[in-house]
Amino acid sequence: MKNVTYKVRIKNIIDEGKKRATYVFEKPKEFSWQEGSHISLALEEGLTNGQVNKDLMRKFSISTTLDEGVISISTRLDSSDSIYKKKLSTLCPGDQCYIYGCESKMPIRREDKNLVFISMGVGMATMRPIIRTYQQDQTGVRSVKNICVDRTGDHLYKDEISCDKSLNIDTLVAKSRGEFKDILNDGLSIDYNDSIFYIVGSNEFLKDTIKLLKDKNVRKENIMIDKSSESLEKYYNVPSYETMKVKDYQKFSSSFMPLGLTPGACSCGGNCTCK
Ligand SMILES: Cc1cc2nc3c(=O)[nH]c(=O)nc-3n(C[C@H](O)[C@H](O)[C@H](O)COP(=O)(O)OP(=O)(O)OC[C@H]3O[C@@H](n4cnc5c(N)ncnc54)[C@H](O)[C@@H]3O)c2cc1C
Repeated sequence: MKNVTYKVRIKNIIDEGKKRATYVFEKPKEFSWQEGSHISLALEEGLTNGQVNKDLMRKFSISTTLDEGVISISTRLDSSDSIYKKKLSTLCPGDQCYIYGCESKMPIRREDKNLVFISMGVGMATMRPIIRTYQQDQTGVRSVKNICVDRTGDHLYKDEISCDKSLNIDTLVAKSRGEFKDILNDGLSIDYNDSIFYIVGSNEFLKDTIKLLKDKNVRKENIMIDKSSESLEKYYNVPSYETMKVKDYQKFSSSFMPLGLTPGACSCGGNCTCK
């Protein structure tokens, strides 16, 4: 499946508001995928003689589940000035694109734990099919907490995915980093020992969120990101400030002065800003 390229027609384009759009493609008969998958989407002119023009392709999560019978992706049309987004925003139903490189790194884990989804902006596109899969079959999942970090408070698919007490689904929206931290620090709300955390967002967001989870003793094995295991390893093991501190500094440089000098120890005689 990963190496097969499909030419697919746009069936519909849904305006999700705030310059976000969902592109709905016809599903080729033999194309299948798991929840939490992503694809590469090349514009029609982005593939010639089997060669992909990198400027005319991007990766996207498939926001639908297989039973819906269509392949959808959701994105921001104003994420940058890229030629890709400019061209994408001019496409209409009936136009065609290429889909290839389907991979799943975020499947639902049925290990009798709680699932916590943490997404930034259109990252909800990755979570939707996982939540839908849970809605259809709750086996091996205790509860779902869906945390959307969205400055506007208007998270993607909000009419469809919110709270459902009968299915143990709770959706929380954080409009700021402070609100997000408050949610994570609400010890009654999240069981850090018994949950699996799915995180989608920018690299910076992944790094910060993984650090917050690590500080709460969440093990790497219980964190899922839409990247390789090496990337997760890298984010999880970002050295903390303490471990970055150079203890035996003179081994590295004879001119290096530690910031914690006692007053008067510097040759400035008290005129510089060293304290
Ligand atoms: C596995 C995977 C799944 C993805 N799924 C989606 C999806 O479902 N919907 C979606 O809209 N995008 C998704 N993306 C990102 C997507 O491929 C594009 O990079 C993104 O939409 C921005 O496209 P662009 O052409 O505007 O900017 P690009 O030309 O791709 O990037 C411009 C600059 O912005 C940076 N950048 C790109 N994306 C982000 C971001 N999210 N936050 C901060 N900086 C960023 C890049 O590093 C680059 O420096 C996914 C990426 C990967 C790797």
